[in-house]
Amino acid sequence: MSLIGIYNHPKAAKMAYFGLYAQQHRGQQSAGIVSRRPPKREGEVLQICEHLGLGLVPDVFPEEILNRLRGSRAIGHVLYSRSGSPSLRDAEPFRIQHRGIDLSVAHNGALLNAKSLRLRMEKLGAIFHTATDSELFAHLIIDAMEKGDKLPEAVAAACKEVRGAFSLLVLGNDQMIAVRDPLGIKPLSIARVEKTDTWVLASETCAFDLLEAQKVRSVRPGEMVVIEADGALASPTLTSIQWADSPGCKHCVFELVYFARPDSVVFGEEVYSCRKRMGIQAAREAPCEADCVMPLPDSGVYFALGYAQGAGLPYEHAMIRNHYVGRTFIQPTQEMRSFDVRIKLNPVSGFIRGRRVVIADDSIVRGTTVRGRTSHLREAGAREVHFRVSSPPVKFPCLYGVDFPSREELIAVHKTNEEIREYIGLDSLHHLTLEGLKAILEKPEDFCYACFDGNYPVPPNDEEEAAAARGLRIEQPED
Ligand code: SF4
Repeated sequence: MSLIGIYNHPKAAKMAYFGLYAQQHRGQQSAGIVSRRPPKREGEVLQICEHLGLGLVPDVFPEEILNRLRGSRAIGHVLYSRSGSPSLRDAEPFRIQHRGIDLSVAHNGALLNAKSLRLRMEKLGAIFHTATDSELFAHLIIDAMEKGDKLPEAVAAACKEVRGAFSLLVLGNDQMIAVRDPLGIKPLSIARVEKTDTWVLASETCAFDLLEAQKVRSVRPGEMVVIEADGALASPTLTSIQWADSPGCKHCVFELVYFARPDSVVFGEEVYSCRKRMGIQAAREAPCEADCVMPLPDSGVYFALGYAQGAGLPYEHAMIRNHYVGRTFIQPTQEMRSFDVRIKLNPVSGFIRGRRVVIADDSIVRGTTVRGRTSHLREAGAREVHFRVSSPPVKFPCLYGVDFPSREELIAVHKTNEEIREYIGLDSLHHLTLEGLKAILEKPEDFCYACFDGNYPVPPNDEEEAAAARGLRIEQPED
């Protein structure tokens, strides 16, 4: 999931569009933008425009739609595919109107206590239209405003109710508010378009590059930043409110392993060089007698570069990716067994034949994809196939918004390294050790590693909370 916020730009929605475009890798299920045009003179009314849709950003926002999204303030969101089929209802930002308040909310993360809070709000009369945490935030904010809080205080009150991971953007009548949870699990940064009063908020800094905005800083864990202007023509001001004490950071390390774009800086780490360091460290831990190193594009590329450098091996690109594979395609005939794997990535047989290759990627989850890739490399004539992984074995589901399968489906839960090697059909297999991963980070104590070691920085109270955070429903046994 990804967030973008633009404050004080004549084409805020267009800027938000490009900000989402740059962050498309963080979610392809749906995209949405809400924009606002504050009144410029007395008698004018606030204009609010919104558009949400399923699919990729350019498909959801053709130019004629984008041109209709007027205003100088906008927030946008792309949704990452989680359990279940895509639903337009769950596209964000979520917008609600209540007694003259028009509120839009977009969220990156997952909440542990969403179910109990929803029940409580429903008992108070709230009617939910979606399954999103953003709607829950919106109801909690409205509830606090009903009790007399102004918008920033109401957002703080809502944040104090929830447990889990959240980076949040809220667009009110006059204000844009950015919030991070007390552990800073998800990224969110502030930038300013050079020589202007335009402020940009984004999950990833690659969005700032496209928008020609300079990063000012990250929103701090437990901080709320309120951007507001006294009228459409006034310069915006930024106010920082520490709504919760931060006991220390627990950033998602998977952002560095997989999620973030390599041209981003996330949690103070340059993702590109961080992934290369993972490769160099893996080469130290598990060198290999081989003829070349090849990434599984795109996620393994920079790790493979580092591994090749560390191991003193040539770096090759002999797995060719089809960049035009859509989300769905006509199913092939029964005989085309390996269609699903081959349509995305195909080995260059002429190069691979007779060679000992090291392939590199970010993780092994179920093991089925890499098993298919390995068998294709063998069919292409590879003499040996070795695999190096840039993360420790994934043994625990993420409760904070990253969509790993259930524990039962995670291959590392049931098989040892040797059993996985054998199942996939590899000559050797090495996962970067947890110690090795920590060793390449500037501040290893600032990261969450729960999907590797099960130490959840915000632990669930029970199984139901854990399931709810992953978007699952626990079936109740029948009497
Ligand atoms: S459990 Fe893993 S994927 Fe989830 S926040 Fe922690 S490090 Fe990231």
